[in-house]
Amino acid sequence: MTEVLDVSSAADALSDLFDHYSSGVVVLTGAGISTDSGIPDFRSAGGQWRRMEPVDFSDFVEKEESRLEDWQRRFEMKGVFETAQPNAAHQFLAECDASGHLDLLITQNIDGLHQRAGVREDSLIELHGNGTYAACLSCEQEMSLESCQESVTSGQSPTCERCGGLVKAAVVSFGQQLPQEALMQSMEAARLAHLFIVIGSSLVVQPAAQLPALAARSGAEFVLVNREATPLDDYADLIIRTPIAETFDQVRNLREAKKG
Ligand code: NAD
Repeated sequence: MTEVLDVSSAADALSDLFDHYSSGVVVLTGAGISTDSGIPDFRSAGGQWRRMEPVDFSDFVEKEESRLEDWQRRFEMKGVFETAQPNAAHQFLAECDASGHLDLLITQNIDGLHQRAGVREDSLIELHGNGTYAACLSCEQEMSLESCQESVTSGQSPTCERCGGLVKAAVVSFGQQLPQEALMQSMEAARLAHLFIVIGSSLVVQPAAQLPALAARSGAEFVLVNREATPLDDYADLIIRTPIAETFDQVRNLREAKKG
């Protein structure tokens, strides 16, 4: 395993990889890709995880108090998500998608920044859902967060206008089952990948964390871009410990210079 600690060598290595692999490139992103956009991650010092425990899915379903607590947090995050802008790493992945150099982008993130950078819906799997809108837990009708605000402000959790079911931000909460088709598609892509890159994940949340191990065992080159150690470091062929947005900014500059 090779470890890279400086931005310039990291950018060279990543750029070479994208030159080398014209197909079979699968990327998994986590909260660390969005910290440079101003969205705190979970496990770094100062991250959300350390400040508050997430509301468990069973509590959300069973207790009005937990639903209101969850909604308060969603509205707090809404402002953060809206102010955040995609950074160079999101933009680089969108460019790879547009040029056909990305087979699949799997994200654990719920901030919608990959779509805002321009990644096509067909190329993206949001394993943990999306926190920028809401959905009915019964009939799956989608709705805006704004449409839920009045109810929450008046002290009642929102219910679906169509079927009366409970409405929740469209994220996969702790204790809630992942979308099975999305998980199957991600596992298949990991198994078939030639290059599997993880960007900004502590790789402790399952089953997302199984994907790189599956890719590596199936023969993919496995590259990890993360400043802190993860439980899968021993599987990695290359580990890049540099700041994500700065590194991908340099990758983009390098590739622009090559084109020119
Ligand atoms: P995590 O917080 O567990 O790990 C993030 C990793 O990224 C850490 O190991 C950290 O060292 C690294 N990192 C952070 N900023 C970095 C930077 N600028 N450069 C290099 N490395 C950096 O995140 P996770 O593994 O994605 O798991 C957290 C869970 O919380 C996910 O399920 C996700 O759905 C959710 N979450 C999402 C968001 C979001 O959508 N932006 C934010 C917080 C939490």
